[in-house]
Amino acid sequence: MKRRSFLQKTALAGAAAATTLSAPNVWAKKTYLWRMVTSWPPGLPILQTGAERFARRVEELSGGRLRIQVYAGGELVPPLGVFDAVSQGTVECGSSAAYYWAGREPACQWFAAVPFGFNAQGINTWMYSGGGLKLWEETYAPFNLVPRPMGNTGVQMGGWFNKEINTTSDFKGLKMRIPGLGGKVLSKAGATVVLLAGGEIYTSLERGVIDATEWVGPLHDLRMGFYQAAKYYYYPGWHEPGTCMELTINKKKYEALPRELQMAIDFAAAECNTWILSEFEAKNGEALQTLVNKYKVQLKCFPKKVLQDLRKLAEETLEEEANKSKQARKVHEAFKTFKKKVEAWGTISERVYYDVIG
Ligand code: CA
Repeated sequence: MKRRSFLQKTALAGAAAATTLSAPNVWAKKTYLWRMVTSWPPGLPILQTGAERFARRVEELSGGRLRIQVYAGGELVPPLGVFDAVSQGTVECGSSAAYYWAGREPACQWFAAVPFGFNAQGINTWMYSGGGLKLWEETYAPFNLVPRPMGNTGVQMGGWFNKEINTTSDFKGLKMRIPGLGGKVLSKAGATVVLLAGGEIYTSLERGVIDATEWVGPLHDLRMGFYQAAKYYYYPGWHEPGTCMELTINKKKYEALPRELQMAIDFAAAECNTWILSEFEAKNGEALQTLVNKYKVQLKCFPKKVLQDLRKLAEETLEEEANKSKQARKVHEAFKTFKKKVEAWGTISERVYYDVIG
């Protein structure tokens, strides 16, 4: 009996060992099916298609172990419901922009776009090499979120105007659709800032309900048809000199992933960060030519004095916003310090180079 029992045990152990050897990774490789919500309309070039590209990349990098189903704004949650849905774990991740969450924590605004702040190159420098991402993670942690930069619009356009801007006083009484910090700056200049959803802007501009609107840049503005409703197309987008888009991940879900899948997410986000910016740069250039050559759009630059005045008002606005929370003050001070530190270099490198090549 003893011998029989011993043989049985040995056989069982052998069988278990054989199974383990023939399929060593079966139990370790758990698979995941995640959902991602975005703030973008279905099919929106670069932004929605960028989120879909990110999901494909993660699936490829993870060998199919982490699949992400992407839902456009409104398909699963409202476009501006992304932050809460990911924070609460309704979905695992989202694609949006941090300035939409100023009401949750004023510090969020510094991680998207600061008027007269960093351009795309500067934001990436701050994020990856200047402590920006660490501060962003710290800001989002209380909301159970992990942020990653995932795309940048590059310098946006100043907007479409039916009235010329020759002096700063031309903003007095001007009705303009311009959200966020830029809107707060223009309010200080005497503008009436109007909030409108994307679908309402064109008609409001055409009917004179508003005198001006900003949107993104040539590619997206061309799609909106604004050239048919406004006379002048102003640059530069001082209010959004390089808007950073975000990937947000539910912190608990992220931390529960094996390290290699966390890295698949991080790497795919970083790759999309580069891809989205380069798509914007390439396609804005093309669309600008169409606007100017085909639709005879009148391009205008804001006068230098106007930009200088707006810059002063932007500094005031940022100080006021920084006073709204402890974290906002911390982020603002860190942002300013880092900007000053790298600007000295930018002044004799990028700036001079652009001047030379005209
Ligand atoms: Ca914009």
